[in-house]
Amino acid sequence: MNRIPVCRSCLAGLLPLVLVLCGVLDASAAEKNASLTAAINSIVPDQLQSHVVILADDTMAGREAGTPGGRAAAEYLVERFGDLGLTAAGSDGGFYQRFGAGYRNVLAILKGRDPTLSQETVILCAHYDHIGRGSKKTSLGRIGEIHNGADDNASGTSAILELAEAFCMLPEPPRRSVLFAFWDAEEKGLLGSNHWAANPTVPPGRIVAAINIDMIGRLRDNQLTVFGSRTAQGYRRLISTNNAQSDLRIDFSWTLVANADHYPFVQRQIPALFAHTGVHDQYHRETDDADLIDSDGMTRIVRLLFGMTYDLAEDERCPRFRTACRTESAPTWVISREGAGAVPQRLGVAWDPQGAGEDGVELTSVTPGSAADTAGIRPGDRVVELAGHIVHSGEDLAGAVLAAVNPVRVVVKPREDEETRELVVQLEGTPLRLGITWETDDAEPGTVILKQVFPGSAAARAGLRPGDRIYQIAGRDFTDDGQFAELATTLPGPLELLVEREGRLTTIVVHVADEISRRAA
Ligand SMILES: [Zn+2]
Repeated sequence: MNRIPVCRSCLAGLLPLVLVLCGVLDASAAEKNASLTAAINSIVPDQLQSHVVILADDTMAGREAGTPGGRAAAEYLVERFGDLGLTAAGSDGGFYQRFGAGYRNVLAILKGRDPTLSQETVILCAHYDHIGRGSKKTSLGRIGEIHNGADDNASGTSAILELAEAFCMLPEPPRRSVLFAFWDAEEKGLLGSNHWAANPTVPPGRIVAAINIDMIGRLRDNQLTVFGSRTAQGYRRLISTNNAQSDLRIDFSWTLVANADHYPFVQRQIPALFAHTGVHDQYHRETDDADLIDSDGMTRIVRLLFGMTYDLAEDERCPRFRTACRTESAPTWVISREGAGAVPQRLGVAWDPQGAGEDGVELTSVTPGSAADTAGIRPGDRVVELAGHIVHSGEDLAGAVLAAVNPVRVVVKPREDEETRELVVQLEGTPLRLGITWETDDAEPGTVILKQVFPGSAAARAGLRPGDRIYQIAGRDFTDDGQFAELATTLPGPLELLVEREGRLTTIVVHVADEISRRAA
């Protein structure tokens, strides 16, 4: 809702009107949500499976581009577009764009509702061809038998049909136009998508995003791979935010190669995504049949794709292409996450994990000149309490040291026959309230990515892990890491964090010690 500036004296008179308007707006927002939910819920396993069964039937003979089977598949798609009442968006005034040796892309468009933004297009696409009876070049199985290509790519083709139907169910289209595109001759070397990208049937400078769906019928370990999330700022968050209901584990792959139809768009600096559930034993073999399709898994994937596409088509602003995506590679710190950096040495002691228990943690060494040494702590001492925290384990000790604010009261028990001593220690460095370090990433604005989570820290106890993304703190967005640091160090605890891990959002509550300084996180 927009904020209307109002002077104080007018406020009383305007208040009833404002309340009425709020009521109207809430009602229309609720209606919009209800229609979006209905559209999403229209995507169901039975319908997804039924398109796959038809397209992967022997009568289509493996849908090779330029063959009768390929043409039969194209005709099926045109009929479905006709049923939905979509506008033809081919190059011949109809749904087809013909090219090559009798090849045909099949295209339809849902015009956006905004007079200006409808000039912009979001593309939802999949290749519908497969490899027919296979050849030495294309088949990994028995050449001469029909290769039905149920997963490759009747699954993606079916997904586009269901997405088109869901979009057509909406009482009004999104602001931008959505182009539904079926590419032919992908299996001959991305011919259809390349041909269209070179000869687009919508204004080429106004394509804001392309989502390619290729092989989504084999969801395993609940994992969907999404390529291209770094082709525009904020795509990872867009995907994760729409994944709440589907709850898929997302592998955000950095790889960008010419292995599917998203690539011609990446080459033309158009943000592009590619959804995929991975290759398998039936890949490019005569055994890639409809009965092996996981239509429940497909449903969850297609519902996620609907939400993402809707947001791209509806949101006021659409992120632009990130040129860096073509040259960057995943940072090594994510891979070697456990060994990333050392825990800050504030006390200067080491201990044997075996020597910890009910009566404290036994120190094996004390670094000369360290805070512990200066305070008179000696090897063989057992630390029982530090800054008010009772110490039962090395983690307790490490966590208490990280967060403690000077001066720190330490209780040590030298030996079994000696009296407990109380010491005052001046720890080195600054206290860490959460016990984390983080990175920011140009591809993920408004997000911090955890690099280290120190053992025993408040963050570690709450279950945060390296690689976790923090999207919000105490319900607040932040624009940069300076603002995040400010909020993390000044807001009263406990801190509620909105965390993304593998594309799933979760709320993690971090309990920070109240006495801790507000100067560092
Ligand atoms: Zn293929």
